[in-house]
Amino acid sequence: MKVTTKPFGATSKGQDVALYRLENASGSCVNILDLGCIIQSAFFPGKDGNLTDIGLGYDNVAQYETCGGYFGAVIGRHANRIKDGRFVLNGKEFKLAVNNGKNHLHGGVDAFHLKVFECLGYDDEKIAFRYVSPDGEEGYPGTLELIVTYKLTDDNKLSLNYRATSDADTVVNITNHLYFNLSGEAGNNILDHTLRIFASKYTENDDGCLPTGVVADVEGTPFDFREAKPIGRDIALENEQLKFGGGYDHNFSVDGEGMRPMAELVSPKTGIIMYTASTKPGVQIYTANNFPERPGKTVPYGEHCGVCLETQFFPNAMEHPHFPSAILRAGDVYDHTTVYKFGIVK
Ligand code: BGC
Repeated sequence: MKVTTKPFGATSKGQDVALYRLENASGSCVNILDLGCIIQSAFFPGKDGNLTDIGLGYDNVAQYETCGGYFGAVIGRHANRIKDGRFVLNGKEFKLAVNNGKNHLHGGVDAFHLKVFECLGYDDEKIAFRYVSPDGEEGYPGTLELIVTYKLTDDNKLSLNYRATSDADTVVNITNHLYFNLSGEAGNNILDHTLRIFASKYTENDDGCLPTGVVADVEGTPFDFREAKPIGRDIALENEQLKFGGGYDHNFSVDGEGMRPMAELVSPKTGIIMYTASTKPGVQIYTANNFPERPGKTVPYGEHCGVCLETQFFPNAMEHPHFPSAILRAGDVYDHTTVYKFGIVK
């Protein structure tokens, strides 16, 4: 992997932002910003050999700061919602910043997607970024050091590693919020993409998109993706869960544990297949529902413009002791990896 870098403007606070271009021997490339460790674009070949930008994003820093959507960003300290912006740890209540009705979403108001990370350096294998989140930031306990490492291999694997430590007990759930559209961003929407998810269970939501605690079987529901099916096939079915999210906006409890396959996404247009594997227990499938029109890199984005596969701990796990725990104890290491591998369907 070869890395080159260039300026990408500055934040409203006057911090310079740089773009790092990772290119592999087969010509695929991924552009990463030190702002939020954002994957700004990612080019992989389709069946005709042409490079396709499979990730949605913006053209400039001001759009990342003001247009929302968390495009391509690292999400932290805690992905997805925490109910009423509060949790109890070691008998003590912590109050978090609230930015989604009464709830806390994706790390709060001024969260990791808006922070300029320090680039720790790169070589022909990897590039690493660091952010130190001060004790109390957005309400979270402990000073948290996060190191994000990206690797792009010659066989078109993009791997994302998150390593975090804290000086006090805390909760951590880092993900990446890239919207995939394997047809390219001008490819309209992702309803034609086929999706397979290696999950026989998913977590049911309430009407605020927070898990009720019920871990339900996918069998016989629109949430059964164990055999690949077009995302659009069941998305408009009469179903309370789909109504709550305006489509898919749910956490799937992926079968097995440790590094294992989670999902496969295919664009019938370009023939690009993306294999997702991760060490995390779940994956949030969010099909860009209730999506206000936003400016894109080459076309505006709208409803179902992309699909996020956010590997994660289950949302609001602190209130559901039967969910895998997102607690990071002082002195322990949070170490999770997600791999997106790109190929062509036969
Ligand atoms: C959440 C959605 C939310 C979106 C914001 C997703 O990860 O599951 O509920 O609206 O992020 O971009």
